[in-house]
Amino acid sequence: NQKIAILCSGGDVSGMNPALKRFVEYAYARNLQPYFVRNGYEGLIDNHIVPADYHDVAGIITRGGTKIGSARSLRFKEASYRAVAAENLRSHGIDRLIVLGGDGSFRGMERFYHETGIAFCGIPSTIDNDINGTDYCLGVDTALGVIKDAIDQIRDTASSFHRAFVIETMGRDCGYLTLISAITSGAELCLIPELPVDIDDFKGCFQSQIAKGRDYFIAVVSEALDSKKVAEWFEKELGFESRVSVLGHIQRGGNPSVYDRLMAFKFVTYAIDALLEGKNHSIICYNKSHFNFKTIDEVALHPYRLDEELLNLAREQFLPTRCQM
Ligand code: ATP
Repeated sequence: NQKIAILCSGGDVSGMNPALKRFVEYAYARNLQPYFVRNGYEGLIDNHIVPADYHDVAGIITRGGTKIGSARSLRFKEASYRAVAAENLRSHGIDRLIVLGGDGSFRGMERFYHETGIAFCGIPSTIDNDINGTDYCLGVDTALGVIKDAIDQIRDTASSFHRAFVIETMGRDCGYLTLISAITSGAELCLIPELPVDIDDFKGCFQSQIAKGRDYFIAVVSEALDSKKVAEWFEKELGFESRVSVLGHIQRGGNPSVYDRLMAFKFVTYAIDALLEGKNHSIICYNKSHFNFKTIDEVALHPYRLDEELLNLAREQFLPTRCQM
């Protein structure tokens, strides 16, 4: 049997376990012997590479995180360690690899491929949704669900008190999680790096809303911005007692959503198909409801930009000039 391995690299996401399950099942269906590499590139270097079977993935579809571990590896940035990693894979007879990770992980794989000829397919996996070239990254939908639940619950208490709640969401420099969460939770204020605003420009509008009976506010703010300052602004400028909720790592966990289970299934299926068809160094991307394959150069050489249609919706809803008096 030909052999194929899978690893998770960088931040974990909900959806990795469903991907591992599909990987084992579909590898066997395609007459491949599946292997797990534990703890990302660290496991490649340390030869933590083990055959996988159905028992290993039984029951994991409901769990967040990744059963085989993920890691960041400084050593993998050095060619000498990448040579060790390749030797380890070859010692098991493995020459195909699926990598669940972010663009850093793919950049590493591209080097690895050119140095060693070991074929790979990358599956974009990060809740930040900040990988250029794909509309969707595995884990985003589950993270959005977690944020939605959190904001809904904060709204319950906010509506019982005369308060402003400032909710800080993840995404690094990318406002995707923040924007989608603000739209879908009916927030009054959404602050993301892609849409710079002067918060003072909301003052008149919010004062008018308060005069008409508004007695609480929900603001959703990207982690790249200063949520504490926003809370202080509500206190100082509007006289609203305010609270900051930093959602933090709860956004990375949780039972994988239906959509992430389905996307994991599709990503892995098409990634294995692609490797068997001879696509040797590609990233599987998802654009406008279609899967396609890109090289890391296409993916990583341009910065990620928030979809223009989404940005227009954000401008429509969340610019101070659009604030409903
Ligand atoms: P996340 O979005 O969750 O941060 P990521 O894949 O972008 O995921 P990184 O920490 O950037 O996370 O990269 C993961 C690993 O990929 C690194 O720890 C390193 O081992 C490897 N890597 C990143 N960049 C390179 C590179 N230029 N050359 C070789 N290896 C790299």
